[in-house]
Amino acid sequence: MGKDYYNILGINRAATQEEIKKAFRQKAHQYHPDKAGGDEAKFKEINEAYQVLGDQKKRTQYDQFGSAFEHGQAGGGFQGFDGFRDFSGYTNGFNINMDDLGDMFSGFGDVFGFGGGGHTKRARRGRDIQMLLEIDFIEAVFGVEKEISLKKTVKCDHCHGNCAEPGSKIETCQVCGGSGRVTKIQRTILGNMQVQTTCEACGGEGKAYNQKCTKCHGSGVCQEIANLKVKIPAGIDNGETIRLSGQGEAGEKGSPAGDLYLQIRIRSDRRFEREGYDIKSKAEINFTQAALGDKIEVETVDGYVKLYIPDGTQSGTIFKLKGKGVERLQGRGRGDHLVEVIVKTPKNLSRKQKELLRELEN
Ligand SMILES: [Zn+2]
Ligand SMILES: [Zn+2]
Repeated sequence: MGKDYYNILGINRAATQEEIKKAFRQKAHQYHPDKAGGDEAKFKEINEAYQVLGDQKKRTQYDQFGSAFEHGQAGGGFQGFDGFRDFSGYTNGFNINMDDLGDMFSGFGDVFGFGGGGHTKRARRGRDIQMLLEIDFIEAVFGVEKEISLKKTVKCDHCHGNCAEPGSKIETCQVCGGSGRVTKIQRTILGNMQVQTTCEACGGEGKAYNQKCTKCHGSGVCQEIANLKVKIPAGIDNGETIRLSGQGEAGEKGSPAGDLYLQIRIRSDRRFEREGYDIKSKAEINFTQAALGDKIEVETVDGYVKLYIPDGTQSGTIFKLKGKGVERLQGRGRGDHLVEVIVKTPKNLSRKQKELLRELEN
């Protein structure tokens, strides 16, 4: 039987990467060999589990093949998957990814010599961008295509994000041999640790070039105003967010871009109010129309429609115009338009009019 890495980290199989990381940190703290109640074997096991589950690719393989994967029986498909094996050549050695543990150790870095030195920056996924987008009431009802422009980091168009001046020679990084990571032995509170860090020479890219891009100075990204066409789906409601995958800030050195989150704010409309997929409005009628009945024109998002007012209608009565509301998401029809009829009580009546009304009372 293979080890149940999920069990070791105390998480379920549906855990997000964030949850896995959190569980790992918490357990690593708990079983830290240097602490009272610490457990070195357990600490290693936790690290081993995290080396697999913390890496989306390895995790998928593990989910799929389980123990077969662990025993290396699946053949060539798992090359490069030896990250969690024990380094028996080192006394008390661990293989720990310092980028993941960096925060954990930073708290007592000064005491144990874990300064910033071991924790180098790596090319990360670009940042997400949050943006507010205001649209009109009617645009939200029927959907709309908007052009937005925003200043963001984009992939450098001169070097196409590979950081080298076009025409310069790109070679494998000599420092890390192209892997983008270097391994160092560090004396730590846990004894000698085998520590992996991002290669500083190439920033984790594994490549070297003899001339940096002259436009982005080797970062692979530039600040630019980007214009973007966005399709806002019909039926979107106030405060809802649209996620545009990969439209956030470009990542440095060719790493993937972040996402763009557009939060929708719907401008109010003096004619209409919205409640879910229904639209509400008010229509004023006069006393005679209420008493005798009439046909009136009501404005809807589709334009004016006729509404039949039966005789004897009371103020506050709500009439439903079916299917004149907001389009439901995923094309499941439309809500309704609800018209509240307000009867205007006559003012400044003449003596004659008052007499007529009194007659009505009897
Ligand atoms: Zn460039
Ligand atoms: Zn390198």
